Amino acid sequence: MKYQALLAIALLLVITTSGFGKSLSQEKQRGHLQMLRTEAFKNMRLTPLDQAYLDTYSLLSGDNQCSRFFAGRGSRLILDEFVIRLRVRVISESGVGIRMSGTFANLVEHREGIVYRLFEQAEINSHGAFYKSFNLSDARLIPDIGRFPPDTREARVLMLLHELAHLIKGTDGRWLIPDDGSDAQLSSINTQTVECKCGENIRAL
Ligand SMILES: [Zn+2]
Repeated sequence: MKYQALLAIALLLVITTSGFGKSLSQEKQRGHLQMLRTEAFKNMRLTPLDQAYLDTYSLLSGDNQCSRFFAGRGSRLILDEFVIRLRVRVISESGVGIRMSGTFANLVEHREGIVYRLFEQAEINSHGAFYKSFNLSDARLIPDIGRFPPDTREARVLMLLHELAHLIKGTDGRWLIPDDGSDAQLSSINTQTVECKCGENIRAL
């Protein structure tokens, strides 16, 4: 009996550990984002992603045209959920800055009344416009993001906002921008839509 109980406990531990494998790294990242927002990080040297997150967070904290487009300050909660899932990877197509893929879950942020979704995978291309302005493998310049040159603070914020617009549903029941998958032209129209709402605020950062 005693042995059986021990076995049951051991089994439970295995199940618990494997079940939390993924969310543990997400929880770690969630804690990291919380720390970033404290005063202690004010004068610290930040990674491009940390800086872009803080810039975007502060932009959505204000009452401005951009935050209103994103359903208000509550959109910061969706930004957090998105950023804690973001992973930096090498994606061979340098035209891809950030890519979300796989199945997605439809969710509701009840307190803020925001309907949103999160994709299974969200990746930043370490060889794309978030980090680079030149692609070494094909010796080509990486195109601007909207009107912002690649590998700049402004371009990174616009890239995060573009993805966030794919995740939040508007009051008309549609995602703030339509899915653009592998349609580069539609993707750039979507970037223009977001820049139209947020460009001024991004320039003022
Ligand atoms: Zn897109």
